[in-house]
Amino acid sequence: MMSREWLLLTEMEKNTIASFHNDFPVKVGALAKAFGIVVKSSTLAAGISGEIKKDERSGYVIRVNRHDVKARQRFTLAHEIAHFLLHKDSIGDGIVDDILYRSSLSDTMEAQANRLAADILMPMPYVNKKMAELSQYREEERIEKVASLLEVSITALKYRLGK
Ligand SMILES: [Zn+2]
Repeated sequence: MMSREWLLLTEMEKNTIASFHNDFPVKVGALAKAFGIVVKSSTLAAGISGEIKKDERSGYVIRVNRHDVKARQRFTLAHEIAHFLLHKDSIGDGIVDDILYRSSLSDTMEAQANRLAADILMPMPYVNKKMAELSQYREEERIEKVASLLEVSITALKYRLGK
């Protein structure tokens, strides 16, 4: 079950993302590269998780705050890739996302980027398969284990599961 944002992508974009869904955790840095995006691990201002800008020399550049925990950096990168795919025309001088993924874009656009980021990092067929395989564990533990396999936060996975 993919988001409605997924349906807005071109076949090529969908195929590119799907080609990264054979191996987990999703190699989100390599995915950005596959879209021609340069990714930099940077020291960003406190309270800023990431940004995407168009650079005259390098094309699109995503910077992820290297001081955030790894799972968060991965979500930020997927979120910025989602802006690239969905909101290219609105990037302008750049989109800067704070820790709550708020930027100069509308809340609707931010929610779209979050949903597509979830599709990128936590494809439901994999989540459902792993949750089923771990059925001997209590739900809390299952969620912890699957979040760890996907290198996402427990909060992100719970949200994905509608909890
Ligand atoms: Zn954003």
